[in-house]
Amino acid sequence: MKIDAIMSAMGVPASAYQAQGLEVFSPVNGEKIGAVATIQASDADAALALSVKAFKEWRHVPAPKRGELVRILGELLRKYKQPLGELVSMEAGKIVQEGLGEVQEMIDICDFAVGLSRQLYGLTIASERPGHRMAETWHPIGVCGVISAFNFPVAVWSWNAALALVCGNSVVWKPSEKTPLTAVAVQAIMDEAISLFGAAPEGLSQTLIGGRDVGEVLTKDARVGIVSATGSTEMGRAVGLAVAQRFGRSILELGGNNAGIISETADLDLALRGILFSAVGTAGQRCTTLRRLFVHESIYDGLVSKLKELYGKVRIGNPLENGTLMGPLIDKASFDRMQSALASAKEQGGQVTGGERITVAGCENGYYVKPAIAEMPAQTAIVLQETFAPILYVMKYTNFEEAIEANNASHHGLSSCVFTTNLREAELFTSDFGSDCGIANVNIGPSGAEIGGAFGGEKETGGGRESGSDAWKGYMRRATNTINYSKELPLAQGIDFSL
Ligand code: NAD
Repeated sequence: MKIDAIMSAMGVPASAYQAQGLEVFSPVNGEKIGAVATIQASDADAALALSVKAFKEWRHVPAPKRGELVRILGELLRKYKQPLGELVSMEAGKIVQEGLGEVQEMIDICDFAVGLSRQLYGLTIASERPGHRMAETWHPIGVCGVISAFNFPVAVWSWNAALALVCGNSVVWKPSEKTPLTAVAVQAIMDEAISLFGAAPEGLSQTLIGGRDVGEVLTKDARVGIVSATGSTEMGRAVGLAVAQRFGRSILELGGNNAGIISETADLDLALRGILFSAVGTAGQRCTTLRRLFVHESIYDGLVSKLKELYGKVRIGNPLENGTLMGPLIDKASFDRMQSALASAKEQGGQVTGGERITVAGCENGYYVKPAIAEMPAQTAIVLQETFAPILYVMKYTNFEEAIEANNASHHGLSSCVFTTNLREAELFTSDFGSDCGIANVNIGPSGAEIGGAFGGEKETGGGRESGSDAWKGYMRRATNTINYSKELPLAQGIDFSL
């Protein structure tokens, strides 16, 4: 693999990815592509002390000036889009198109954050007292700890870092131990941005490569004002508890068991394309992957047979090669979990098509699978579990309201969609009585969000929001100010406290 060429194109020194420590194997072919130095949990203390110091300086820099650093970062990401996208593909196994898309998402959030750096607006509030003014103001909160998952190894850092930095915070990142090379590259790009910017405090944005014990330090240390954690619900439960224990703030972006409803009025061509991308793309390893499909009984047979035909045409193979649509699973453990879920689906009355491991020439050690369709008699226990692999559970429905209930029966609440041309169904799905997810789409699949909207979901997805809309408020502390410019001291609620 051309790892040296890729790293040198981004100015990453060989010493950073050919070190002693954590060895990195590509899911593409099982080949060792590097090794990175790791830190121990005990070393995190010094990094946090430096981060606090950096925060105390950075908050003095005016927000639009802070935006200038993020603008430079966005420019560098444009310059390095190709090598960084290829590195994502090599290390996470997603196709190059999606690796490039992930870097584009980083660029987009940088652009968004630059604009935001001049729009961290507060409110003016009418006071009930004469000669008084009330306002709501927003202030930096401190160190923002970012814990990220393997499947979006670079974009998730940028969603958090770009906003946290313009909001006046410092950043400490604990990337997934499965994708440390992309983290090393992103840190090198960030270091270059800081050096071009010229006036950022030392340690403003740091990366701590290590195991979950390093992540645990971020959750337990009161110096970390916000912990933004992306990963499994199991991880989020531990992180949420640890941060709540010390009354810190957490932004949790956890698992999803996302559904789609295909109405009898749906534009079927559109629906099939939407299903295919969201169920098979990234080999089913997106938090927003379509996992449960409810199809109106009158169109079920036709749609499912067409879907199977399309599944048979998906080009599975080396994700670095042009034309491949589906790459490998991240590792053997992921493959084993997929097989066990398919066995459970069969035990629970399902009919499974696909799911077998396939051999890709030159990539014999990669875990490549055929995407699976499991036709289920009902929403059984296995259907209600997130298996991070390309398994689509398909079920029939008769009544639209029942399909919405089935959508909402998941413990998770990340993303959802309906394909319909019926206005009433579309409005119902997105109404108070509709989908209970953080993302509810009409006539597009549940995956592939744009950065402009707030991203995240309810229930066991954790409730956090990142990226667009007013998600920036999660990275700041809010103060309510009452300013008395009169010569009197009237009390609120008309209380008389005179001597
Ligand atoms: P994971 O939970 O195994 O690991 C994620 C990160 O958490 C890693 O960096 C890991 O070291 C760290 N970690 C684990 N336990 C920890 C603890 N107790 N304290 C602190 N840190 C800890 O997840 P994964 O396998 O890398 O990713 C797949 C999961 O992530 C899926 O469930 C997927 O749905 C979810 N995900 C969610 C989103 C979202 O935005 N909602 C985005 C991407 C992935």
